[in-house]
Amino acid sequence: MKLALKLIAVFALSVLVFAQTPAKDHMVVVISLDGLPAYALDDPRLPIPTLRRLMKEGVYARMTSINPTVTWPVHTSMVTGVLAGEHGLLANGTILKTGSWPPVKVDPMLDKEKMVHAPTVYDAVFRAGLTTAQIDWVAINNAPTITYPFSEWASPAGPVEREMIAKGVITAADVESFSKANIAFRDQIWTTAAVYLIHEHKPNLLLLHLLTLDSVSHGSGPAGLPATAATAFLDGCVARVAAAIRDAGMSDRTTLIVVSDHGFKGYTKQVRPAVALAAAGLGDKVYVLPEGGSAYVYLDQSQAAELVPKTIQTLEGVEGIERIIAPGGFSALGLAQPDQDPQMYQLLLVAKDGYAFSGATGGPVTAAPPQRAGAHGYLATDAQMDVIFIAAGRGVRAGVDPGRISVIDIAPTIANLLGVKFPSAKGKPIRVQ
Ligand SMILES: [Zn+2]
Repeated sequence: MKLALKLIAVFALSVLVFAQTPAKDHMVVVISLDGLPAYALDDPRLPIPTLRRLMKEGVYARMTSINPTVTWPVHTSMVTGVLAGEHGLLANGTILKTGSWPPVKVDPMLDKEKMVHAPTVYDAVFRAGLTTAQIDWVAINNAPTITYPFSEWASPAGPVEREMIAKGVITAADVESFSKANIAFRDQIWTTAAVYLIHEHKPNLLLLHLLTLDSVSHGSGPAGLPATAATAFLDGCVARVAAAIRDAGMSDRTTLIVVSDHGFKGYTKQVRPAVALAAAGLGDKVYVLPEGGSAYVYLDQSQAAELVPKTIQTLEGVEGIERIIAPGGFSALGLAQPDQDPQMYQLLLVAKDGYAFSGATGGPVTAAPPQRAGAHGYLATDAQMDVIFIAAGRGVRAGVDPGRISVIDIAPTIANLLGVKFPSAKGKPIRVQ
């Protein structure tokens, strides 16, 4: 009996050790389809044959986003496993104080080490002796723990770009003035880079971010043919990556994860808080940074006792503003306090259904947008901000229901699949088997 117990203990220990050994011959490929709302998949005629196949072969769940439901903050929660109050991303870059007017600006170029204030799962994977790749991922500029970077700002001088050009996979012209190219072209090039890296380098973790649907939904709204066609195009990009995994002989050693970062809402009216504030004589004291469905209100903290009540009084009467949230409500949203993070604002505005914020300083306070349009940035508790999680392949059992999950659960799931420890995450590994 004693011996049997000992044997069980040894067996259990060896299983434990095995589970914590970095999986050098495994791959986890994460594709983020920016701005794909979970509700879009309720339409059985959404043309997404690849996503439907992966959902059938693997696991699908509706996922809660984080506050703010803005691209860089959500993607940073995906890789850190913590909320924005902890990782420090509130916009598509770092919010810097300017010392002049406007009092803040968003800087996307800051290095990742300065921008992201929490450990990332790719740091952990890299330090475990595995390889990492990022293609158009965000808040990742010059990250020292990315083995193969193919940047949002790709150029003929980039390391992976040079390799691909030398092998004739892309031309130098393809990545010349790259950020001026249309977004569908860039998504195609980024997908080509993913296919190339899977084939040539088989990185243990590959992060790929595709943007066409987000661009189309901002400019034409999330419903209708433009968004549907963009979604079909992205499904084709996912199909290319899935085929690359198969062609590289990695099917039984790879987990493919497809996610999105935030949903979208169509709106027919813009709210311009700056116009109302100027009319109240606060135009040069209170600054509003619009983030679609929400807006950040900055004012001089030393004058807060006078300016905050005046600002609230002015904005309370403005059509289209659903809520004005003071710092007392920030921690419930996963956000830091103004005295904890210099990026933080004194008030958070949330738009009503059918409205989004604009930074315009002229014209009427509330106006029709220039065209049919869509926005995100509403609170993460808004069901229309819900996103998708699909996992298929190694370590995934078809049909498992993971229950309600959050984007902060993605990083610990990746760590688990690769046998890497990642104790800083507040999320939990998603049940996929
Ligand atoms: Zn986004």
